[in-house]
Amino acid sequence: MTLKERYKRFKAWQLNPFDWSYDENERHHCVNCGYDFAGKFCPHCSQKAGLKKISWKSVLQSTAEVWGMGNRSLLYSLWQLIWRPGYFISDYINGKRQVSFPPVKMLVVMGVFSVLIDSLFGVKEVVENSSESTLVNQFFAWLKASPGWGWLIMTGFFMIPTWCLFRYAPRNTRHTLPQGFFITVFMAVQVLIVDDLADFFGDFFYVLLPLCYFYVFRQLFGYDYWGNFWRVVIIMGAGLLSATLAMTIAELLMTTPKSYADEFIVIRDLTLYSVVPIVVGMFISKKTFELREKRKQTVFQFLRMSFRAFKQRFKQNDDEK
Ligand SMILES: [Zn+2]
Repeated sequence: MTLKERYKRFKAWQLNPFDWSYDENERHHCVNCGYDFAGKFCPHCSQKAGLKKISWKSVLQSTAEVWGMGNRSLLYSLWQLIWRPGYFISDYINGKRQVSFPPVKMLVVMGVFSVLIDSLFGVKEVVENSSESTLVNQFFAWLKASPGWGWLIMTGFFMIPTWCLFRYAPRNTRHTLPQGFFITVFMAVQVLIVDDLADFFGDFFYVLLPLCYFYVFRQLFGYDYWGNFWRVVIIMGAGLLSATLAMTIAELLMTTPKSYADEFIVIRDLTLYSVVPIVVGMFISKKTFELREKRKQTVFQFLRMSFRAFKQRFKQNDDEK
């Protein structure tokens, strides 16, 4: 197979990795409930077709299942999350839920796994005891202890900016906030993996974080390269600023500074800098969306008109006869 063919096959897999086809004529008898059916699973009780007697293989399989390696496997979901993340997330939020290991569970399991690996290999987390606020340090200490939930909160700051800026995207247009939540969960898993890589191989690997977002959102929302680029940059900027804002407010509530004037200036500026780019970006997105729709309509109108003209000419020909 040439490289080009391989790439083509990879592309096809990215778009549609599952084969749901089955032989209509091949009948099965359900061992569990006695129903006769065609297909891979019993439509009555959902037991898998063609299950054999309990053997050593079943022992292995049911043990592997505990670790998320069975049907809808954790490993295969992670594999997809690396090689076709945007399409995978898109499939999931559009209702193809059987394609994935339950995402929140995946995040938590990966979080536990990451802590386990850290302690097994003795990766030392350097928590800097600077003179900086204790609350922030406490938060980061907690983040290291339960990275799954921690990264969900951190990536959660991107959720509303994403909802605003990618509302008018070519793909997954007008995604809802609950769908946004699941996008966030999948992104948190990715960030967690990158975080683990960075723990092992050095902080250089944090470069992958923005790259993940560029890569995933391009597949998920379907903007062209630049359209995707500037939107992700705004999302990351606004997300980081609002995270800082949240911490500033939390600090303010915990302590009693001498004067609130400085704090309010900081809060006002942070709010301004995170909200304005989003509003502007949203406005531009809406305008380009409307333009795109109009163009679609003109193409449609053109087709309809030419069809009418064609029909009329046909009629005339008939009349002449
Ligand atoms: Zn059955």
